[in-house]
Amino acid sequence: MPGKKIGIMGGTFDPIHYGHLMLAEQIRTSFFLDEILFIPVGKPPHKTHSNSADREQRLEMTRLATKTNPYFHVSDIETKRNETTYTIDTIKRLKESLSPNDQFFFITGADAIILLDTWKDYSELIQLVTFVGATRPGVDLNKLYAKVRQLIADYDAKIEICYIPALAISSTEIRNRVNDEKSIRYLLPESVESYIDTIGLYKTHHPRYEALKEYLRRNLSKHRYEHTLETAKLARKLAIRYDVDPIKAEFAGLCHDFAKEIDRESMLKHIETFTVYFDPCIQKNPNLAHGEVGAELLKKYFDIEDEEILDAIRWHTYGNKNMSTLSKIIYVADIIEPSRNFEGINKLRHLAYEDLDQAMIAYYELNNSYLKESKSSVHSYTHEMIDHITRSI
Ligand code: ATP
Ligand code: MG
Repeated sequence: MPGKKIGIMGGTFDPIHYGHLMLAEQIRTSFFLDEILFIPVGKPPHKTHSNSADREQRLEMTRLATKTNPYFHVSDIETKRNETTYTIDTIKRLKESLSPNDQFFFITGADAIILLDTWKDYSELIQLVTFVGATRPGVDLNKLYAKVRQLIADYDAKIEICYIPALAISSTEIRNRVNDEKSIRYLLPESVESYIDTIGLYKTHHPRYEALKEYLRRNLSKHRYEHTLETAKLARKLAIRYDVDPIKAEFAGLCHDFAKEIDRESMLKHIETFTVYFDPCIQKNPNLAHGEVGAELLKKYFDIEDEEILDAIRWHTYGNKNMSTLSKIIYVADIIEPSRNFEGINKLRHLAYEDLDQAMIAYYELNNSYLKESKSSVHSYTHEMIDHITRSI
């Protein structure tokens, strides 16, 4: 019985993208293959970069990406092993588990063919598979064909070279784009995109980010916790827009409501301990001091020392006349994060990306009319903040 023709598509797939999928599909149809087996590597022998997805995550993304093509399958043969895996060992093990008549087509970039004689036991590997080298613009064809002729002469190698349309997509580029809050839509399947987003893959965070996130998840109400995550996310985006440190902004956004759910009695004690200015509006509503109190608690009990981050947390509720761009970002992100909804918010959302000062003034005006109606007082720092901004523009 003639065996199947199986394409083997190995890669780090960190993450898998349309370049990989297009390559596999082009080769499947050009060589009349019965299926393509995607094999995410376990421990990549050459590649290490910070911020990489772990192998379970790479395997899952590969599964999600290939789901809609009935000819595409995924193997965990390499990801389930702990040690560095070599193609020769994987092919031998696959041969054992499949029919002896099956033929393997090992798909790879043409640049890898040029380096083939550096692979482990390559002369044996050449006997076991047909290599399909995909060339892209930029590959030195003279060098490639010289290498192919040599491998055929020396080892009777089976090598096919195939021209594939160029897609200037790489996993490295995608990881960088995620970290820079740029869109990755249309570079990879939507299912993989939302997986990356949900897990929060490929983003560099403040060293204490995970610890604080876990603390807040356990100590804040669900609603407040979700608000802090949204604020952190938006603060990171605004920071990139205004060229300030996104890692600090994200962390300050995450921590800004650290003290928000402290009860009245404890809040009054903290206000005294930390000598928070006792403005009449704080006398009326001590909870308003949660920014200043939160910053002091984070400093005292969590060793957060960065004053720029602490200031952003301190002044996020009533502001202050000396606010850095980072502080303004947290102030604004808190007001307009996606779960917020009030009349006039769309204008603020638009202004936030245009001009932070204008967004703050617009919010003050919105708020002032509401506060007048409800006869509450406004913190004197808020007036000072707005005076300062108005004078400086
Ligand atoms: P990285 O940027 O981390 O190097 P990558 O995008 O090159 O990742 P790999 O997992 O290293 O992805 O690639 C697996 C295989 O897919 C390789 O043989 C590679 O040559 C091929 N490949 C990667 N990107 C493309 C692309 N845009 N078009 C065609 N083939 C590609
Ligand atoms: Mg690569």
